[in-house]
Order: sequence, then C-alpha cells, then structure tokens
Amino acid sequence: MINRRQLWANIAGAVAAAETLGHAQEKHPESKPLPLKDFQPKSMLHTKVTQVPKARYALIDFHTHITHGDDLGGTETLKIGGQPGRILPYMDQRNIRMMVNLTGGYGRGLEQALDLFSRPHPDRFVVFTQPWWSRLSEPRYPQFQADQIERAQKAGAKGIKILKTLGLYLRENVKTGKLVKVDDTRFDPMWETAGALKMPVAIHTSDPEAFFLPVDRFNERYDELQNHPDWSFYGRDFPSNMELQEARRRIMRRHPKTQFVCLHVADSENLEYVSECLDAHPNMHVDIAARLSELGRQPRAARNFFDRYQDRILFATDGDALNDPGFYEPYFRFLETDDEYFPYAPEPNPEDGRWQIYGIALPDTILRKVYYQNAARLLGIET
Ligand SMILES: [Zn+2]
Repeated sequence: MINRRQLWANIAGAVAAAETLGHAQEKHPESKPLPLKDFQPKSMLHTKVTQVPKARYALIDFHTHITHGDDLGGTETLKIGGQPGRILPYMDQRNIRMMVNLTGGYGRGLEQALDLFSRPHPDRFVVFTQPWWSRLSEPRYPQFQADQIERAQKAGAKGIKILKTLGLYLRENVKTGKLVKVDDTRFDPMWETAGALKMPVAIHTSDPEAFFLPVDRFNERYDELQNHPDWSFYGRDFPSNMELQEARRRIMRRHPKTQFVCLHVADSENLEYVSECLDAHPNMHVDIAARLSELGRQPRAARNFFDRYQDRILFATDGDALNDPGFYEPYFRFLETDDEYFPYAPEPNPEDGRWQIYGIALPDTILRKVYYQNAARLLGIET
C-alpha cells in the first residue's frame, strides 16, 4: 500500500521528469515528428559482414530484362536497355556466366533481340519470346499463337515469358472489357507447343499478397505502395492472389509435359502453399528473383525449402543488367553466407518494407544446382 505522502512524492517526481523531457526536446529540435518516408534507422548490431562481390560459381541469371517487347501495345518494337559491350564486363566482374533475357518480344522485335544478344554471344545470352496478346480477339488466335512460338524457336528463342499481364492487365479488348483468365483455354495450344518443343515457360502470376490489401497502416508494403500507387490490385475487378495462383495450377495440371518456372518463388510469401504446389506438380519450378526480402526474413523455412526443392529452384534477379554495382551482392550473401540482419537491396533503396534479412549458407552441392545446374538442364545447355 502506498500512503498519501509517498503518492505526492511520486507525482512530484513524475512532473520533474516530464519537465526534464520537455527541456530535452527543446534542445533537440530534430526529435520533432518525423515523416515516415524520412525514417531511415541504421542497425546498431555489430554483426559479421562478409563481402561477396562475386558469386562462388559461374552462374546463370534466369530472369533479366535487358530488352522489353511491347507487351500490350501490339507493335513489334523492342526497347533495348543496354548493349552487350557494356553488359559483358559487368557479368564477368560478378561471375555471371549467362543471362536469360526474358522479355525478348515477338516478330521483328524478337529478331532484333536475337541479333543483338544470343546470335553473336550464344554462350552468354539466352532470349525468350513473349505472346502476341493484342491479337487475342482474332478467331484463329490459339493456332496463330502456337505457330508463333514454333517460329520463335526456329529463330533461336529458348523459352516463353508470361508477364503478370496475364491475369491482371490483359482484357478481352486488350485494354478494356473483362480480364482474361490465366487458364483461358485459348492459350492451350501455346502451352502444348512449348512442352513439345521443350521450351520452358517463365510465368509471373499475381504479386505480393500485400498488393491485394488496403493501403493502410497495417499494410507491410505501405512505403512501396506509396511510391508506386499503380502496383496496388486492391478492389476494382481484380481477382484475389489465391484465385490467380489456383488458375496457374490448373494450367500446370492440364499440360504436364510443359515445364513451368513460376517466377518470384511463385509470387507467394506462403512457402507452405508453394511446397504443396511443387509436390503436386512435377513440371513446376521456381526462381528467386526479387524475393530476397521474403526468403531472407524467414531463413529457417527458406533453408528447409532449398534443401527440399534443391533441384527445382533457379537463381534469378529480375535485373536489367545496368543496375547499380551493389545489386547482385545481397543475393550472393544470402545464398553463400550466414551473415545476419543485412539489407536485401543496395541502400538507400530497400523498398519492399522496413526489415532486413539473414543468410542461409547453402552447401556447395545445392549452391551449384541453384546457381546454374537447374537452369542449364531446363535450357538444354551442357555444363
Ligand atoms: Zn521480371
């Protein structure tokens, strides 16, 4: 029990403390309310820092965008991000043996991508083709698209890239009308042709779960969605993340001979669900592009995942080969070291959310598979 005298003493003490605090605030005007966007706390942990500027084994980056085909515009033009003369030294410095340029376009654009990259440098660049979405409403589209894939392979394309356009942007009249479903049967001949020609399908479906939720104070990607409001798929007529995921599963089930690489760890933070899909669909693989922020903050689950699916995980970044010099290092550090609590992207840019990641120190046998053996097998490249 506390008596009246002690109570007054406590109150007096509290008032004095509050005054001291007020005084301190006057002395440190920088402690005024801080906008969230300006808050950039530095970790005070004194942790081990391993420099890994170069990968331990010469790797294949399965997911890059050196060029961009016209995805919904329907023109055969190609945007070129960089020339091989500039990219090859960048690759050598990081021990990147090969880059797969997924967005190689179609028609004349594809020819241009092949001419510039894989024809002169067949051991350094691979080019994938993209579907000609704008012709979807033509009556003969299913067969046209399948033929287009066959022609692309004859020209030198090694696989097909499906952007998240399918499921989230592509509509019946290309940009208007109802959204076209991921498992729309008009694409069946394309999936079958890809399987028959042993062309892997690199497919991005959906996006982080937080992009489908309200952009409010509970959204862990609030900063990112403030910077890119158009990345939100909340409301309107967008399907849910799970509907998109399940539609992709139906295509994998319908086309068991076609190899699918589900990009961004199958676009799911839910490794249990991704594991269930991998168990159910032997033709499914995943890449790790742009998902260090997810894998690296659950290092024990991630390590188990790599152990279990070591033959079906591909190294990939989603880079454009012209990124800043520190772009690859967090990937190498995550896979090769047991460093703790480090940024998943070069600062000041880690924009997915306000957290850091942990390395999973893969053993050499798994590292070799993830860095190049799995990709080489899918692409039909000798190692
Ligand atoms: Zn990408």
